[in-house]
Formats: sequence, C-alpha cells, structure tokens
Amino acid sequence: MLIIESPREMQTWAQEIRSQALTIGFVPTMGALHAGHASLLQHSVNANDKSVLSIFVNPAQFNVSEDFEKYPRTFHSDLEIAAQNGVSVVYAPSVDVMYPPGTSVRVTPGSAAQTMEGPMRPGHFEGVTTVVTKLFNATLPHRAYFGKKDFQQLAVIRQMARDLDFPVEIIGVDTVRENDGLALSSRNIRLSPEARHNAVSISQGLFEARRLHLNRTNSSETLMKTVETFIRNSQCEKIEYVEICDPNTLESIGDTACGAVICVAAWFDGVRLIDNVELKPINDER
Ligand code: AMP
Repeated sequence: MLIIESPREMQTWAQEIRSQALTIGFVPTMGALHAGHASLLQHSVNANDKSVLSIFVNPAQFNVSEDFEKYPRTFHSDLEIAAQNGVSVVYAPSVDVMYPPGTSVRVTPGSAAQTMEGPMRPGHFEGVTTVVTKLFNATLPHRAYFGKKDFQQLAVIRQMARDLDFPVEIIGVDTVRENDGLALSSRNIRLSPEARHNAVSISQGLFEARRLHLNRTNSSETLMKTVETFIRNSQCEKIEYVEICDPNTLESIGDTACGAVICVAAWFDGVRLIDNVELKPINDER
C-alpha cells in the first residue's frame, strides 16, 4: 500500500493506472476510520481494480475552528484499516499542500446545500465541494463512494458532479449502525455514557417514522412529530432540525407516499449528531 502526499504524485499514479485500462475507486474521508468507512472501502474494492482512500481533515469545511482542532486524528490505526480492506493508495496531503498561500478559488455548491446543514453551518458545503473537486482532480477516479449517513452531502456532491460534468460515478452507501441503531460516527467517542445511551432515540424515532410510513401514515407533519417526540423524551440538549424532503432535490415535502428522506440534527451533551432514514415510495395497490 502506497502513501502519497502530493497532488502531482497522486495524479501521476492515477494516470498510470488509467493507461493500463484499470479502474479507480475513491473513498474520501477525514480519517478516524470506523466500520462505516470500512464499508465504503469494501464497496470500492469489490467494484474497482484499484482503490484510493484519502485522509484529510479539511479546515475549509469547519465553520468553528475549535471543532477542526478537536477532530480525532488516528492516522496509524487508519493505515491498518486501509491495508486490511485492500486499499492500494492512501492519499494524505497536508493542509499546506492542499491550500498553499494565495489559494482563492472555491466551488459554490448548488441548491441542495440551501437547507438543513447549509444554514446551520455557513460555508460548510462550499468547503466540501471545493475539497472534493481537488481530491477528484488528484485521484482521477472512475467511481467515488459516499455514505448515506451524510445524506445531504451526498446530494450536494451528486449535483456538483452532474452540473459540472465530472466524469465520476457517485455511489451512495448505506449507513452502518451500532447494534442498538445509533449511526456510527467519528463523533460518537465524544459522547458521555449517558449521552450515548440517550442518543439512540434518534434512530429509534427515525425507525418508528419509517414503520408508520410503511403502514401508510404519509403525512410529513405526523412523521416529524413522531421523530421529535422520541428525541425530546430522551434528555436531548437541543433538536436543530427534523426535516422531511425529496431525496433528490432536498426540498421539503408534505406527503411521503412518493418517497422521501427524514433528516435529523440534534445535540447530546455537547456533541452534534446527524442521522436520516429513506422512505421508499408506497405502491398503492388498493
Ligand atoms: P467522515 O466521517 O466525514 O470522514 O466521512 C467520510 C465518509 O464516510 C463520508 O462519505 C461519510 O458519509 C461516510 N460515513 C461516515 N459514517 C458512516 C456510517 N456510519 N456508515 C456509512 N458511511 C459513513
């Protein structure tokens, strides 16, 4: 497994692989790898000749610089997970290499960035679209893998790839969860035991809403209230949003019968968690 730190070296490797008519799968991460990231790697390794994992804690996507400083960094165990999962290259550029003095161009995200995380975290998605563009330009992938855990991020990247004609297939991978339902996240290690216990209410509320939807309760208002009630009853510090949206455009919708996604952001004991469930279209066979 190679470790590459500069965009030029990364491009040279990728061009060489492409010249052999081999395919490249790409998994961008900020490190602190867990089983959710490993699942993305598995999808990539299974579908491509070579897989590149990037590890880069991107300062441009943190709107609070303290969060950037506090972000867990576990490079050595990340390398082990990468090797165990069959990664060919770990691309790990430094901040100075990614954003040398004088860098000023940014990629403006599209309409999917306007709701939910967008207004809550100003500049976040611009940081994401800019860094993903740079990472695509360095790794030259055929396919890139993103977790549905960050559903809005996936929608923003899909829009960007489509609108800017990136020759990359964007693939969404299902969320990996703990046994009790909590979505795996690098932030979970910051939860106190009590907050960890309470945070399961997010997935419980989402799963209950999905069950109601399948039983033809398709009013967004009712489903949102269901999710909110589960979370409120569990000592949640603050619910930032519970939204029900069209899974492609992320526009709010009032009825879920044609399919939807429910997205949540909530705080537990100083830790901000996000999660979502997809609601499949209901086939009305009556
Ligand atoms: P990050 O944790 O921000 O480094 O995320 C890197 C990639 O891993 C993103 O595409 C995330 O959506 C994805 N990811 C994070 N947590 C999970 C999870 N629990 N299941 C599946 N993918 C995940």
